Amino acid sequence: MEGSRPACPTLVLALGGNAILQPGQRGSFEEQYANVRATAEQLVELLERGYRLVVTHGNGPQVGNVLLQNEEAAATVPPMPLHACGAMTQGLLGYMLQQALGNAAARRGLSLTAATVVTQVVVRPDDPAFNHPSKPVGPFYDAAEARRLAAERGFCMREDAGRGWRRVVPSPEPLAIRELPVIRRLLAEGVVVIAAGGGGVPVRALGDEGELAGVDAVIDKDLAAARLAMELGADGLFILTDVEAVALDWGTPRQRSLGRVSPGELRRYQTEGHFAGGSMGPKVEAALRFVEAGGARAGIGALHQALAVVEGRSGTQIVPEPAAGSLEAVPARIL
Ligand code: ADP
Ligand code: MG
Repeated sequence: MEGSRPACPTLVLALGGNAILQPGQRGSFEEQYANVRATAEQLVELLERGYRLVVTHGNGPQVGNVLLQNEEAAATVPPMPLHACGAMTQGLLGYMLQQALGNAAARRGLSLTAATVVTQVVVRPDDPAFNHPSKPVGPFYDAAEARRLAAERGFCMREDAGRGWRRVVPSPEPLAIRELPVIRRLLAEGVVVIAAGGGGVPVRALGDEGELAGVDAVIDKDLAAARLAMELGADGLFILTDVEAVALDWGTPRQRSLGRVSPGELRRYQTEGHFAGGSMGPKVEAALRFVEAGGARAGIGALHQALAVVEGRSGTQIVPEPAAGSLEAVPARIL
């Protein structure tokens, strides 16, 4: 940060889907706002401790709903492309978080400014993900409708676990955060910044002159959060989800939680296939990238324990390997 690192530690927080929508809910504004309110209470506790926060969040259910609204109204209003739907969800969820954070702070007599940065994230047009769309988005269709959408709109459609057909889109690697300079300036002013929501709007460079255009893809929000944390030189990356810790042998009788773990050891478990793709896999990868790039600490834990996860008292803590022979050379502890 060119010698301008603020005195307060800067944390990047990645909020999981449950921060905004709980399983079984339909996604009304009121339901989502009630969840965001509870999330805001957790975040304000961190602000009270003096941390500077950059907040990222998922948008899977919301972007699916916006897509569905576009499909249903296509005869009346021109449907928006996926990247535009992603931008809409950044605005909507950012608005809810801004208001809920402001209200939670006001109830505690704190003054707080939160601002959402609609964030563009640069991807490579030749990212191999474009040849292997993998991320299901939006509504389910029957086989006939799926064939029609594939023929008429060029959508890539895939059967999803016996539940029907869905559009699948590429999930390319986040390379650069376009709005980084403004995020830095806001942070330096003490603003709580909500950025790269839903992984950011994926964009590609049009040439060498800095022009950008949106692309239809969905970037993984955990990987985007890691990129943001690295580029900001953040003091910590914390991925807050609906489980208390990363587990080995997940879903088996041998399941056990990981406490403190070095990146080397976590990479080994990753290679052994302990972390499911599309859920825990990207979280572990994001935490590893941040710490391997020099980040001081990454944590993966429960949203309702946010402060404890940040303070290293809960969740899985990924910390760099201490120098050989150092007194800190403790093995990974199993909770
Ligand atoms: P979010 O919406 O927070 O991004 P995800 O649903 O994508 O959360 O990922 C969290 C889920 O990952 C957990 O609820 C759990 O079901 C699943 N999961 C898969 N593998 C593991 C593992 N090894 N340890 C813990 N949870 C795991
Ligand atoms: Mg989820």
